[in-house]
Amino acid sequence: MEFINYMQPSYDNNEIEAVTRYINSGAWLTEFKETRSFEDSISTYTSSKYCSVMANGTVTLIASLMAMGIKAGDEVIVPDFTMSATSHAAAILGAKPVFVDVEPSTLCMDFEQMQKAVSEKTKAVIFVDLNGRYAKKFDEIIDFCKAKKLWLIEDAAQALGSTYNGRALGTFGDVGSYSFSMPKIITTGQGGAVVTASDELYEKLLRIRDFGREKAGSDHYMEIGANFKFTDLQAVIGIEQMKKMPDRIIRKKEICKKYDEYLSGIDKVTIFENNYEDTAPCFYEVLCDQRDGLIDFLKSKNIGARKFYPPLHSEPAYCIHESYPVTEDISAKGLWLPSSVLLTDEQIKYICDCIAEFCKAN
Ligand SMILES: *Cc1c(COP(=O)(O)O)cnc(C)c1O
Repeated sequence: MEFINYMQPSYDNNEIEAVTRYINSGAWLTEFKETRSFEDSISTYTSSKYCSVMANGTVTLIASLMAMGIKAGDEVIVPDFTMSATSHAAAILGAKPVFVDVEPSTLCMDFEQMQKAVSEKTKAVIFVDLNGRYAKKFDEIIDFCKAKKLWLIEDAAQALGSTYNGRALGTFGDVGSYSFSMPKIITTGQGGAVVTASDELYEKLLRIRDFGREKAGSDHYMEIGANFKFTDLQAVIGIEQMKKMPDRIIRKKEICKKYDEYLSGIDKVTIFENNYEDTAPCFYEVLCDQRDGLIDFLKSKNIGARKFYPPLHSEPAYCIHESYPVTEDISAKGLWLPSSVLLTDEQIKYICDCIAEFCKAN
């Protein structure tokens, strides 16, 4: 039996033909018209005024913070439970990430904890739409940031295709950031995008991603920037992947509902409640007290599963000796089950049967 990967990319002849056509057209490979067209497809899809595509979903966060003027000594509020890029983006600029615990039901930043984390040095909040969800008090968080004049970055790396009040997640802050790395709903190998409605931030982002140049081709440097640019070779793949979004959203939701159905009767695993009207989860997540044993067992059955992120505050890179009980609890018990759009219904059934077998014996 073939190994069932926890995640894998999906593409077909459309991507292959698009790359071939592009290469045969005398491609310059670097970013140009195809990248602009990929940006247009993302701004149209999310109903955003502007979109700037960059090398990945980490530099989109760094560039966003730079465009907001975040610098050494500033504080940036981030959730303790997230992919490391969220907090690293602030730390790499010399700013201090201030960790906040998450809500147990959504795994998104907790509004009460967030308010407590604000100091005079706080300049920005990075809210993570974890697995395509928003916080229960999402409106309060947005209003609070506005009232306190804090920049709000929505790290929507896991949320392309998910919505809140009918609007794309990623469009609720001053900027939204998406990622097109392999595990995300669409992929270009590496890649990221920033969306914004702000003329000022957009213009800064364009300069920051291109060495601080006044405009493309110019040798005037208006500010310090870097090379965060994309390539047209990736963009032609991205354009094809975007066309698949409607089908992928349907399939992601179907996969999760199947898992919900099979796993809801097993009391040793806890499943999460998703509002599938709004949320197209990237991954299927469960909690299990014997998480590590379950992962090993699944591996022996040719099934790839992955542990949740660690509580970031306690990692050697941060070494903060404080308690974040929700993150600590779910990080110790959480795992992601195979969630690629290529997963078949039979595979989901097999995976759930294996989980039931493990739970019965342990
Ligand atoms: C994937 C991810 C990122 C980083 O994106 P890359 O494209 O891998 O750099 C940032 N934040 C979150 C929440 C992610 O899931």
